Amino acid sequence: MKTHAEVVIIGGGVIGASVLYHLTKRGWKDVVLVERDELTSGSSWHAAGGMHTINGDPNVSMLQKYTIDLYPEIEAASEQSVGLHMSGGYMLAGTPERLEWLKLAHARGRYLGLDTELVSAEEAHAHMPLLDPRHFVGALWNPSDGHVDPSGATHAYAAAARKQGAEIYRFTKVEALAPLAGGGWLVTTDKGEIRAEHVVNAGGLWAREVGRMVGLELPILAMEHMYLVTDDMPEVEAFNRETGREMLHVVDFEGEIYLRQEGRGMLMGTYEAACKPWSPVDTPWDFGHELLQPDLDRIAPSLEVGFQHFPAFQEAGIKRVINGPFCFAPDGNPLVGPVRGLPDFWCACAVMAGFSQGGGVGLALANWIVDGDPGFDIHAMDVARFGAWATPAYTDAKVRENYSRRFSIRFPNEELPAARPLRTTPVHDRLAGMGAVFGDAWGLEQPLWFAPPGVEDRFSFHRSTDFEHVGAECRAVRDGVGLAETSGFAVYDVTGPGAEAWLDRILASRLPREGRMGLAPMLNEAGKLIGDFTLANLGGGLWRLVGSGPAEEYHLRWFDRHLPADGSVVLAPLGAALTGLTIAGPKSRDVLAALVREDVSAEAFRFMDVRRMTLGAVPALVGRVSYTGGLGYEIWVTPDYHRPLLDLLLDAGEAHGIRPFGSRALNGLRVEKQYGSWARDYRPLYGPIEARLDRFVAYGKAADFIGKKAAIRERDSGGAVRLCFFSVDADDADAMGDEPIWRGGEVVGAITSGGYAHWSGVSVACGYVPKELAVEDDGWEIELLGDRRPARLQRLPLFDPNGAAMRG
Ligand SMILES: Cc1cc2nc3c(=O)[nH]c(=O)nc-3n(C[C@H](O)[C@H](O)[C@H](O)COP(=O)(O)OP(=O)(O)OC[C@H]3O[C@@H](n4cnc5c(N)ncnc54)[C@H](O)[C@@H]3O)c2cc1C
Repeated sequence: MKTHAEVVIIGGGVIGASVLYHLTKRGWKDVVLVERDELTSGSSWHAAGGMHTINGDPNVSMLQKYTIDLYPEIEAASEQSVGLHMSGGYMLAGTPERLEWLKLAHARGRYLGLDTELVSAEEAHAHMPLLDPRHFVGALWNPSDGHVDPSGATHAYAAAARKQGAEIYRFTKVEALAPLAGGGWLVTTDKGEIRAEHVVNAGGLWAREVGRMVGLELPILAMEHMYLVTDDMPEVEAFNRETGREMLHVVDFEGEIYLRQEGRGMLMGTYEAACKPWSPVDTPWDFGHELLQPDLDRIAPSLEVGFQHFPAFQEAGIKRVINGPFCFAPDGNPLVGPVRGLPDFWCACAVMAGFSQGGGVGLALANWIVDGDPGFDIHAMDVARFGAWATPAYTDAKVRENYSRRFSIRFPNEELPAARPLRTTPVHDRLAGMGAVFGDAWGLEQPLWFAPPGVEDRFSFHRSTDFEHVGAECRAVRDGVGLAETSGFAVYDVTGPGAEAWLDRILASRLPREGRMGLAPMLNEAGKLIGDFTLANLGGGLWRLVGSGPAEEYHLRWFDRHLPADGSVVLAPLGAALTGLTIAGPKSRDVLAALVREDVSAEAFRFMDVRRMTLGAVPALVGRVSYTGGLGYEIWVTPDYHRPLLDLLLDAGEAHGIRPFGSRALNGLRVEKQYGSWARDYRPLYGPIEARLDRFVAYGKAADFIGKKAAIRERDSGGAVRLCFFSVDADDADAMGDEPIWRGGEVVGAITSGGYAHWSGVSVACGYVPKELAVEDDGWEIELLGDRRPARLQRLPLFDPNGAAMRG
């Protein structure tokens, strides 16, 4: 066994083997995989091996497509079969809502390069005779559906990696991990020690235990999962004989089941509502190639529906029932990437669909280790999307919810209830009393909108019960004054003798003068956007950064990586120690003026000024900035003043008809002003020119900011795409993100976000198109729920195009 390696991967399931293969493919040969038993001694050996490209997140879909397309390469590289069966498959819709969901998936597939097709239930029946078409209203055909032999695929990845120089130590258990003084890790196994520059946790069922070796409690829970395999079925044999083809894959959402051919019979698996975690606290180390006791009663409700929808199963004998555990993160997506505070410790765990996603996870992680960046937007899989709030109890509740809803529709306006409310601010109950309907962002309850008594969200892909009320909130902000919570932002204080120079290097913008704020994009080395902040210079060497709440861990990880080792910069996340409210609208100045002693006239307190003020008796920091795009103020206080501040603002605002508004109204207001949104319109896929944030980039500043060279190259070349806002001739559904943009009968781009601009009465969609096309006013179509709706390029914001309201 080696005593030193560049990378040690812990775990020889499909994920560890894929990471190993991808590292060798990137030319890293000094890499080893350590497996406590035989390869595939966790979840991988008993998987059903099914593969699909459809996923709720388009970037994950792309990685799934990459995984499936990779299998022939793995076979060639290893000279071993992965048991690839590309049968193609149907996703079946049993309700009109599910058909709409399939239309959305199909539309998204167009720009992802997926070759899907919508068909009638009868047509699906013609190609998959086991289904009874009377139970369905339509289907989505996907030629990329199929299955592999799970063990064969894992061994083929491993063999291909070995051929390229990797080493694999089987029957070798990692027992401890300790950081080395000069960087890297001491990996202690039961067969000896290895000094590694990088360690990858691909421990699958034991990923939690491997995490605990470095003091990390990962949000992972294993669930029991069952599928059954039938005896040979005459219908299957007849179909194979007559067509020369295998039975197609099927996902039946209403039955919560999936099917595929296995031998001359069928395999049927379920994601049952009455789901059951396995080993919720510790995974026993002596668990190996074992199965769990089947519990057919638990899956009986799904099987009953399945037997109705696929009547041939009623006569089929059951050959065996498999019950095995596998791991999930709270939202069902993998946990991939480096962990803040643990340099060179990497996660590749909680992969619940290892045979659809394993290749993509391996590629992303290998890129990340080799290049310092995954190379594409993997936010939906990034381990940094969870923070300390994702405790074991939270994880338990969310994983159960996710498992039992795996085949349920999640409507765009649907908030899931498990593990809520978790984090609340001091004004939570007050806002609830005013009718707030809450959603959670990063575990924090935030008002979405304010509902009159008796009105609640009706979940839908269309405009719904909230539409007119959100409209009233928007109009209140545009015509009078609105009040909203801002505690969901992530706020960081930066101090120390090196603070100014460090900010100048980490941010692409110019730094504001004392008492001023500035918009500050942050770029990675490739010149792509990894953050957009408001930076305030509070004087006395104190700088305050305000950024996206859900990106807090992601940004902290980046900051940590770039902080000078000499302690000359201190970065403190304020977390829940700072809360805020905002008032916005033409009357907001009158409300503020009634509460403070200083002059807050347009001349004395200008756009982007920031000052400490006392509102009534409440000490606060007030910034003249608003994401609504008009006149407005953000008011920051410590939590003990949050409620008094709310009272003050509501009292002073009463004379002006102040009205609370939520994040849905804010979305309608910001699209009206053409403000992009982090993680939707601004992502690490795009540079500042492409995202139209170049006016905030100080290309000429003396500081050599991260990404400067790449940003200058992008500026000189003009980049490839442009963020464009469109007004859409919508019917009763607005763009929400991921819809295709059509031009001249072709899909030329994708929508990143959208909404209804209530004050202007315009449905707005925004997304990226090739830069050459970004000058065309007409001839656009945006596909909404399968309908190609005419759209027009909106060159200027619908509201306040010259900034007079904002600056005045
Ligand atoms: C019944 C069932 C059906 C499934 N069907 C499908 C399907 O149809 N399609 C699909 O894509 N997925 C399916 N899955 C899920 C799939 O099995 C998992 O996504 C996949 O196996 C995860 O692989 P992994 O490498 O992350 O983890 P694992 O397979 O659990 O591998 C982890 C490995 O790490 C080793 N290890 C852990 N700790 C240490 C240590 N300290 N030292 C050394 N070695 C260690 C373990 O021994 C193990 O071999 C199914 C799962 C089950 C249970």
